[in-house]
Amino acid sequence: MAVVRMFCRLVKGSRALQVLLVAFVAFLLYAFYVWKNANTFTTITKMIYSDVEPRLKPKHPESIDLSFLQQLHDDTDVLTDSGDDDGDSQFEHDDEIYVIITFSKAKQNYALQNKFRTCVSSMFYQTRTRIMFYIIGDDVSQNIAENIMHEVSNNNSFQVMHLDVHLLAKKLNRTIFKMQKYFTKPGAYYSDPLFFLSLVIHRVMPLDLHRVIMLDSDLKFRSDINQLYRLFGEFKEENIIGIAREMQPVYRHTFWQYRKNNPGTRVGDPPPNGLTGFNSGVLLLDLDKMRKSDLYNSLIDSDAVFNLTEKFYFKGHLGDQDFFTLLSLDYENLFYILPCTWNRQLCEWWRHHGYADIFDEYFTCKSHINIYHGNCNTPFPV
Ligand code: UDP
Ligand code: MN
Repeated sequence: MAVVRMFCRLVKGSRALQVLLVAFVAFLLYAFYVWKNANTFTTITKMIYSDVEPRLKPKHPESIDLSFLQQLHDDTDVLTDSGDDDGDSQFEHDDEIYVIITFSKAKQNYALQNKFRTCVSSMFYQTRTRIMFYIIGDDVSQNIAENIMHEVSNNNSFQVMHLDVHLLAKKLNRTIFKMQKYFTKPGAYYSDPLFFLSLVIHRVMPLDLHRVIMLDSDLKFRSDINQLYRLFGEFKEENIIGIAREMQPVYRHTFWQYRKNNPGTRVGDPPPNGLTGFNSGVLLLDLDKMRKSDLYNSLIDSDAVFNLTEKFYFKGHLGDQDFFTLLSLDYENLFYILPCTWNRQLCEWWRHHGYADIFDEYFTCKSHINIYHGNCNTPFPV
């Protein structure tokens, strides 16, 4: 206190000190003003967002249900740019195609890493089209994926976006949880939320993204992925998802009870006329149609799935492909059936487990194979 009193007395007695003090206060005020208007963290964050937002805005907002817009803004945090653009921004290319690949828990899983390497390198080798990848995975797996892509890139033009698998699962938890209940057992291989993302992915992808190919990692391309993308053009009005038939009699087995009670049913029958069931390793997702389809969205949100499981005595275990299969039994037209050559599955497990006699009715796939799918860890033919 004594010091303050002494300072006041000094200031009172000295005109020069009074002037100095006023100047000092004025300087402090000026410094504060400058600091406030500088690039603080808040303004930097704003800059980042102003860069991201236009890309996420729909091109034709009037044609899109506004509830999705809200949802989109709630969900932008699941999507992060790897900052690894090899060219211009994402939506300026008409000839660019969009691909989602699931690649999760890859740390120290060298078998999965090798599968991914084969998948991407064969894809790159066969195409000149620019590809925008969305990788679904954890942070470590995303990094591994990106390194592999750069390693195997054949001068291809591509861009990578990250979709955080945990955030996705959290955002989509309600639906996924319900589906897990019907289509898997706890602890089973396909019980991971990862295997259910495809059926609700339209609810989190940017609205500018209209159509996307969604792939497993255990694939090998023998043709240009651009040709696959063009098959969207073959969809009929009511088709919202393109998917190939399952090439083993899995669903003949699963629906045995229904088939017994309903002789002559197409359920579980082989191609070309049967409702054979699907394999989800290669999917063409028309996101716009998935968003807009009241039927499809009511089927994932309501108890309709439960009713279908009851009607067809269904106990599943194969994740999303069980869901698509079950829907197709009553709503066949939701699906465009992808030619077998675009998802030539190689697994022959059921041939050796009771179905040798009719196995080839399901397994045969003639003409040039465009994509091999090494499911159940089956090696690719050399
Ligand atoms: N997957 C993954 N991490 C895993 C297991 C699976 O990312 O730990 C992805 C991967 O893309 C894989 C896909 O999920 O290709 C589906 O699994 P998988 O191909 O093993 O099933 P299958 O085709 O043999 O039924
Ligand atoms: Mn697979």
